[in-house]
Amino acid sequence: SRQFTRPLNDLANQFNMILSAVAGAERVFQIVDEKEEQEDEGKAVSIDRLHGEIVFDQVGFSYDEGLATLRDVSFQARAGETVALVGPTGAGKTTVISLLARFYDSNQGTIWIDGRDSKEITRDSLRKQMGFVLQDSILFESTVRENIRFGRLAATDEEVIQAAKEANAHDFIMKLPNGYDTVLNGEGAGISHGQRQLLSIARALLADPALLILDEATSSIDTITEMKIIEALERLMKGRTTFVIAHRLNTIQNADLIVVLKDGQVIEKGSNKELLKQNGFYADLVRTQQQKAIM
Ligand code: ADP
Repeated sequence: SRQFTRPLNDLANQFNMILSAVAGAERVFQIVDEKEEQEDEGKAVSIDRLHGEIVFDQVGFSYDEGLATLRDVSFQARAGETVALVGPTGAGKTTVISLLARFYDSNQGTIWIDGRDSKEITRDSLRKQMGFVLQDSILFESTVRENIRFGRLAATDEEVIQAAKEANAHDFIMKLPNGYDTVLNGEGAGISHGQRQLLSIARALLADPALLILDEATSSIDTITEMKIIEALERLMKGRTTFVIAHRLNTIQNADLIVVLKDGQVIEKGSNKELLKQNGFYADLVRTQQQKAIM
């Protein structure tokens, strides 16, 4: 584990968002690897603590010149609200998050964060305010304790255990061969997919970010662990502005805002109730998923 300590610290200093990171966000993190990070604009300021009010104002973006990936995307979230991003693969959900985290900058429009143009906030300070709980948490070849502590390197052992308890992870950790000292290998072998999610929730709790990005798990997780995850996520989401990349629509019914994307455009937005009443694309999706569930 000594081998791993230094890279972990380096990483943590460079990109705090990797703290609660995960392989499900591979594409997002590839971007970071492949792309030379730009210098922050001279006038960019470092922010300490966000409230978490997010406004996308007619945001447009292209990865390749001429080909619009996002067009005229507008929506707003008050601090502490939950926004679900819904839509087919390739619709632009991940790109919305990439722009929010400033892995890329928009070509058109403005992303306002607490009333400030996000381009005027240093990337580093912005990402320190963002926690990621994604499909497959990246676990490091280190102990369970250090894997959780990666959320906040200065956390005490007591704080690590407290976070694990809040994340409903403590019980399964205590049943591991060496408890918190159990060494996980890089693939996280020895613990289940759902348990990995609980660890990544514990990490995020420890990091205490103002903004939270959740990429829902698509793989099957047993019912009991799933209930633990849902309960832990409710605790984690409290008081944080949360963006959920939603795959299973039944989990986002309580979102304050559902943004339906298709071909890079917002085709519908509103609450679950409003969108069902509208009886458009979202309502169709819900019906399709219900049919699948029955079959
Ligand atoms: P979603 O998350 O809804 O599946 P994405 O935001 O990943 O959608 O992708 C939106 C569109 O942008 C897709 O057509 C995808 O192929 C394209 N895209 C995503 N990432 C890149 C990239 N790094 N370079 C070029 N095109 C990309």
